[in-house]
Amino acid sequence: LDNGENQLIANLPGKDRAHLLNKCALIQLPLGQVLSESDVAMQALYFPVSGFISVLARVPNNPDLEIGMVGREGLFGLPFALGLTSSRIHASVQVPGDAWRITAQAFREELQGNIGLQLSLNRYLQVVIEQLQVSCVCLRFHTIGERLATWLLTSLDRSNASELPVTQELIATMLGVRRVGISTAANLFRQKGLIEYNRGRLTVLNRTGLEQVACNCYAQSLRIYKEVL
Ligand SMILES: [Zn+2]
Repeated sequence: LDNGENQLIANLPGKDRAHLLNKCALIQLPLGQVLSESDVAMQALYFPVSGFISVLARVPNNPDLEIGMVGREGLFGLPFALGLTSSRIHASVQVPGDAWRITAQAFREELQGNIGLQLSLNRYLQVVIEQLQVSCVCLRFHTIGERLATWLLTSLDRSNASELPVTQELIATMLGVRRVGISTAANLFRQKGLIEYNRGRLTVLNRTGLEQVACNCYAQSLRIYKEVL
């Protein structure tokens, strides 16, 4: 298991952090594991330390569309922080990794007396709302190449990885675009020496170069996280 840190947990005051971790278990999140389904009560919350979880919108007669990703910067299970037990979202593990898991019951008890955790979750909720606003703008105004670069950089950050086990098909589905659009953009990135593809694994060779071709949504999302949390 990856014993790296989840940033939300790492940012808690020492006493609050220890209290929370006492109730968590470090577990593996295997590829494709479904963590939430529409209208099914959720059993636990997850604070990833590696890999990431895709939050997906199910659209009738269309493939799923990725509307959020949760990695080591965040938490999956926000409804519990608001006193709810289910949501209408679908979420599954996109890049396998490890996470701190806490049961819904234990979390409810923990939240009562853990002021540091309450404050942190309120702020995180605001981050998620503002980042969703950024992604609405992104979907409407930015090119496939810009969005691909932003998606790759965000995926690397959130999964704490240097390469991603993803196919172009998968990326196209996540971004809600046709595969040919992703192939064209990815080929251009490869020619520029920004990325490399090898048997279903994508490696970023030049991070700074990728940041230069990404839309400003990437920098904007990082800024929101830094300023709100
Ligand atoms: Zn954008």
